[in-house]
Amino acid sequence: MTPEARAADFDAADPLAGYRERFTLPEGVIYLDGNSLGALPKATPAALARVVEQEWGEGLIRSWNSAGWFAMAGRVGAKIAPLIGAAPHEVIACDSTSVNLFKLIAAALQMRPGRKVVLSEPGNFPTDLYMIAGLEAQGLAERRLAQRDKLPEALDHDVALLMLTHAHYKTGALHDMAALTRAAHAAGALVLWDLSHSTGALPVDVNGVGADFAVGCGYKYLCGGPGAPAFAFVAERHQAALQQPLTGWFGHAAPFAFSDDYAGAPGIDRLQCGTPPVLGLAALEVGVDLIAEIGVGRLYEKSQALSEFFLECLMAQGIALELASPARSIERGSQLSFRHDNAYALCQALIARGVIGDFRAPDVLRLGFAPAYLSFTDIAAAARHMAEVLTSGEWQRPEFSQRAAVT
Ligand SMILES: *Cc1c(COP(=O)(O)O)cnc(C)c1O
Repeated sequence: MTPEARAADFDAADPLAGYRERFTLPEGVIYLDGNSLGALPKATPAALARVVEQEWGEGLIRSWNSAGWFAMAGRVGAKIAPLIGAAPHEVIACDSTSVNLFKLIAAALQMRPGRKVVLSEPGNFPTDLYMIAGLEAQGLAERRLAQRDKLPEALDHDVALLMLTHAHYKTGALHDMAALTRAAHAAGALVLWDLSHSTGALPVDVNGVGADFAVGCGYKYLCGGPGAPAFAFVAERHQAALQQPLTGWFGHAAPFAFSDDYAGAPGIDRLQCGTPPVLGLAALEVGVDLIAEIGVGRLYEKSQALSEFFLECLMAQGIALELASPARSIERGSQLSFRHDNAYALCQALIARGVIGDFRAPDVLRLGFAPAYLSFTDIAAAARHMAEVLTSGEWQRPEFSQRAAVT
């Protein structure tokens, strides 16, 4: 049986097959980069048009109340909450992931007086490491990096916060959230999980593992659109004492009392800073609703099946590539990364054929398997393109090695 025939059988039996129709995907494109920018839900343009034309155009300033703009950050946060195992009042959609990291790292440091170390791992997503560096330059933090197998022993009594990304952006390798959270707590440290590559793709249980804080991205698997607001989770037990440093008026207990003095809002609302991006939240809400409707459990199951099938297709065509991701699907997120000396050119050659993945320096070709809108037929076709590009040597064409500024 050819990979294509097997794919057709899998598609026929796929309970999520119908959801592809709910996304806009260009003709001739196999989109394996939904882990970087999620595809556009078909309902988004109309939802945005309604917010722009009716709520903004007609309602004007009244829409802060009449259209529920004030409550939007909390409302969208509450919809994200069940996707990560949080209670609705523990999550808010606001700012970027980077800014949310800053707020929560600073808040954690303040909760552990006498400790300054923020522990993470080398090779974590750059912005996560840079946000610690900024606080270090202010004299507030001390950055410590330890390889993943050395993290438990690096948890000494100077560590205020353990901050890690659950699914590694480059390899998809997963951390054991429960074990590491337990180890950090045993050492008296708090834990902040970056769920950017997990939310909407695999089940996460922040309260089940006892996490203190989490952040995540709105434009990847949640399909909120470019630059979508991110989210922040603060466990209920920390909310009353939490002091975050970006004390803007939207995090005030009574923003419209126009008092001279800051008083943080009770609960998760104090994570807000300035006026929320209503258009961005409106687009994010459509993506979150759709992902929640499909269900993270089903999405995870399908993403594992897609990545396993991709490997099977490569093997059927005699292609052996070095896998940078864990070989066991249970140990990785919704992606497969391959190491290749010419990963950049390989990626460009695939893009020229309409197979969009991405390159991560220095040598990784990264393919994301966003399960909401990919079919097994897509996967079989992508694997065939990959085999052809490799065996024909097509990737060696000079135009494929010229680097663009943004890849
Ligand atoms: C995508 C991603 C981010 C993005 O941060 P922004 O502030 O939205 O640019 C942060 N952390 C991780 C782990 C990511 O994968």
